[in-house]
Amino acid sequence: MRGIDGLHQDTLAVHAGREDFAELGVHAPPLDLSTTYPVRNLDVGTASFDALVGGEAAAANPIYARLHNPTVARFEAALAKLEGTTDAVAFGSGMAAMSACLLAAGQRGKHVLAVRPLYGTNDHLLASGLLGITTRWVEPDGIAAAIDADTALVVIETPANPTLDLIDIAAVVRAARGVPVLVDSTFATPVLQQPVDFGATLVLHSATKFLGGHGDVIAGVVACNAEWAKALRQVRAATGGLLHPLGAYLLHRGLPTLGLRVLKAQENAQRIAERLARHPAVAKVCYPGLGTVANAALASTQMRGPGSLMAFEMHGGHAAAAAVMAAVRLATPAVSLGSVDTLIQHPAGLTHRVVDADTQRRCGITPGLLRLSVGIEHADDLWADLAQALDAARQAKAA
Ligand SMILES: *Cc1c(COP(=O)(O)O)cnc(C)c1O
Repeated sequence: MRGIDGLHQDTLAVHAGREDFAELGVHAPPLDLSTTYPVRNLDVGTASFDALVGGEAAAANPIYARLHNPTVARFEAALAKLEGTTDAVAFGSGMAAMSACLLAAGQRGKHVLAVRPLYGTNDHLLASGLLGITTRWVEPDGIAAAIDADTALVVIETPANPTLDLIDIAAVVRAARGVPVLVDSTFATPVLQQPVDFGATLVLHSATKFLGGHGDVIAGVVACNAEWAKALRQVRAATGGLLHPLGAYLLHRGLPTLGLRVLKAQENAQRIAERLARHPAVAKVCYPGLGTVANAALASTQMRGPGSLMAFEMHGGHAAAAAVMAAVRLATPAVSLGSVDTLIQHPAGLTHRVVDADTQRRCGITPGLLRLSVGIEHADDLWADLAQALDAARQAKAA
């Protein structure tokens, strides 16, 4: 295979995971839907089985689709290139990816340290202790003091869902003193941030969001070193949280346009955020590009831009937020994010409902807060839609 290291990220996004096309004589990747593979040579089959169950990335025979799938492996190889890691391991959802990280971490220690806010179900999973590992909640400046011999992992999310607060990854890695740091980088994508450059060990994405980008695949992926990848593949083979090959095919198909999508959405988001901040129905806008979130300066040092998500607080609380959800016509009132189309949702009523009320309050998840994922439509059309929805909310309040 042709080596493609040293190329720019835009080029990698187009060519990674496709290095053998010339050899195969194809222009699009083959989609392999096999659940099982013929074993003509039992010795080769047995050795392959042992290797894959043991967490190897590939073997002479894939044996069974829970152990290996070539289409999934292509997407993993491409994503690893974009994150600057040797390996990536894909799962059936972002939560399956997070579960696998916690199960693998559970072999190394008894608890994780986690910084809030996190995506609602990440918070819920960590708080529940469901996977046998407990969670100690800390502030970033409390990490160093909280680390002990039983700390298996430090979990952070930056930008954080839904407040868009940023966390200094390098500072967290220093404070963790050798304990691996997991960064949920879903909001940033590899286009805007590579957490391993700042010392992170595990980079997690809900691939359902920007990586898929078209609202038609649910998936998760963890970019990491070979040692962690081996542990994660062992967990995946044993627990079966697989990504279906069609999902992997669609994710891989989307990577070449990831950079275009992320940058266009970000350009739109800056304009929308500025207009929202001036609208009389809006009390405040949390967007790194306005400097209105924690550690906003990291948007241009740790990140290559503020991204395309923002949260904004309506005057008039829950009723006003609900009225906006009801009034948008171009934007879709729905959970999820990172799609080519604009999505707007209510964290307290939907995504962060599984977070306890006290934590919601402390994290600024108020009844009037809406989260906006700006798409790649024309910014003026988006603004016209939002403006009429904000006006409708104000009239509903006045009536
Ligand atoms: C959506 C999301 C997840 C969970 O991913 P699923 O694919 O829905 O399981 C995890 N982290 C963040 C930041 C998310 O936005």
